[in-house]
Amino acid sequence: MTYKPSSAQAEDFIHHESILDIIDYGRKHAHNRPLIEGVLKKAALEKGLDPREAFLLLACQEEDLNQKIYQLARDIKLKIYGRRIVLFAPLYLSNYCINGCVYCPFHGQNKDIPRKKLSQEEIRQEVIALQDMGHKRLALETGEDPLHSPIDYVLESIDTIYSIHHKNGDIRRVNVNIAATSVEEYRMLKEAGIGTYILFQETYHKDNYEALHPKGPKSDYAYHTEAMDRAMEGGIDDVGMGVLFGLNNFEYDFIGLMMHAAHLEARFGVGPHTVSVPRIRSANDIDPDTFENAISDEVFKKIVACIRIALPYTGMIISTRESQETRQAVLDLGISQVSGGSKTSVGGYALDRQEEALGSEQFDLADNRTLDEVIYWLLETDHIPSFCTACYRAGRTGDRFMALAKTGEIGQICQPNALMTLQEYLCDYASPRTRALGDKVIQRTLGDISDPLIQKKTRQWIQDIQAGQRDFRL
Ligand code: SAM
Ligand code: SF4
Repeated sequence: MTYKPSSAQAEDFIHHESILDIIDYGRKHAHNRPLIEGVLKKAALEKGLDPREAFLLLACQEEDLNQKIYQLARDIKLKIYGRRIVLFAPLYLSNYCINGCVYCPFHGQNKDIPRKKLSQEEIRQEVIALQDMGHKRLALETGEDPLHSPIDYVLESIDTIYSIHHKNGDIRRVNVNIAATSVEEYRMLKEAGIGTYILFQETYHKDNYEALHPKGPKSDYAYHTEAMDRAMEGGIDDVGMGVLFGLNNFEYDFIGLMMHAAHLEARFGVGPHTVSVPRIRSANDIDPDTFENAISDEVFKKIVACIRIALPYTGMIISTRESQETRQAVLDLGISQVSGGSKTSVGGYALDRQEEALGSEQFDLADNRTLDEVIYWLLETDHIPSFCTACYRAGRTGDRFMALAKTGEIGQICQPNALMTLQEYLCDYASPRTRALGDKVIQRTLGDISDPLIQKKTRQWIQDIQAGQRDFRL
């Protein structure tokens, strides 16, 4: 068998021997300055890198070249994404699960964790609590369980979420992170109006994957690995990938991630919309120290930088699995979305039920700040927090989004949208100190909008928002 990026078979597009070969090559050339400099030169064109080139940068052991890698990542981040950071929160619907994932406390054999599934009324309360924080974008999470959370339950929950408009609040984009499923069910999710379909591969190493997933439907490596293909066949053109760092050798999984992205590009003409970079966390029943592949903060930073360089137009997401300090260290290296004020319990947002939700968490958070504290921190560190959901609502998804991103036109749209959604947040939800700082940042940043007509229009809309109107977008 050979590496075939456009094949529909998992073991052709995630090609084990080629990954081993690339690891070998990268390690052998970790000090090969001309080779690494050549790749850096190509990377500076912002057209991305293939898996072998990307890994050469990750493997580089020359200190000054590593600094160049970080600088290039920062430059690409700034040029393509500006200083905008999009905010979201996870919403856990149910923690019933029939799989056996050894790293997750929701696994079916764990008798220690309280099991819970939200009713539609409870979802309503959760969503109101999230809207009252200021969230506009959610990532839905469930365990896999055909009895407790079949597709109809997920679809009904999405409808419920979109239907709730509390005060000035509304959830304008629901991304979905549920188990691998069929083309038919992906089509139903698309019709329900989801944004991105997110599924983490966990690890691309087949043997380790099988050992880590000893039970349930998720134990089928090919079915899981080919899920994004089925999602795209079902019409979902924004997919979000990720591996759970700590489960397996990070070099192997980094290359797997690159091959997966290259595969989607080769087969469907559009790469992943986002890549997440989760690291394993402690949880009920889970001690991360028993996983011997944990990666250091240094390696984590390098991975983020190399993903940014290799996949310049793919958004990158960091969750509250990481501390404020780590999040700060990687923001400018390539992150475009962060979660804030998150809970990983089932029913943890609505204040009067928080006690009931205790113990049902998926993992411990490293960043427990409120959303307002996260917004203040972003503003203070010279970022522009954004609640924008405009692209997906205007049908700018998949290759249409990528075309705009690649020509740089997207920035013209993103900046005003970021400022307007930030203004909504400041008016409706911010603490006085966040409001004061945010207002200043908006006034200062409006002048950076290069198109005079768009600048004028945005200034007007900002005033209209301050006067009480909502939901303007380009
Ligand atoms: N059940 C679905 C699945 O497994 O694909 C959907 C989402 S699951 C609730 C979300 C993700 O949490 C998993 O894909 C896994 O990578 C991550 N996760 C599980 N256990 C974790 C832990 N102990 N620390 C950090 N992340 C974890
Ligand atoms: Fe279930 Fe997902 Fe947790 Fe695995 S990672 S046990 S599938 S919830």
